Amino acid sequence: MAVYQIVEIGDPVLREKAKVVTKFNASLEKLLANMADTMYDAEGVGLAAPQIGVLKRVVVIDVGEGLLELINPRIIEWRGEDIAQEGCLSIPGRQGNVKRAEWVKVQYQDRTGQEKVMEGDGLLARALQHEIDHLEGILFVDKLVRE
Ligand code: ZN
Repeated sequence: MAVYQIVEIGDPVLREKAKVVTKFNASLEKLLANMADTMYDAEGVGLAAPQIGVLKRVVVIDVGEGLLELINPRIIEWRGEDIAQEGCLSIPGRQGNVKRAEWVKVQYQDRTGQEKVMEGDGLLARALQHEIDHLEGILFVDKLVRE
């Protein structure tokens, strides 16, 4: 088990665009395992690679339904609107209301490079949108709304 240090707001790496993953190899597997360890250790529901200083399009999520690993994820369909409170492991102690799509469909690759599609609503949809934003250098505090 390896737990990474989580990068906090103010570090420029959180504002950069992450790069597409093209190699599905042992080092990707190691990154995924260590990101999952780091997420569980911090008791988060999601973690994007830039949050540990790695500018790759890799995300792990677990909203209580098991571990999801998404490589090069992108939202291909969305529906509805939902405003709820959000936090971020990179912004300790801060929470705020963010408007998200209520349902999303995401295309991604698994750890072997296989193309996949998944969909989710509620907390899972929120986590998917939050983590995919990290890959673009976007943080939830950029999207705060008043309820
Ligand atoms: Zn976050």
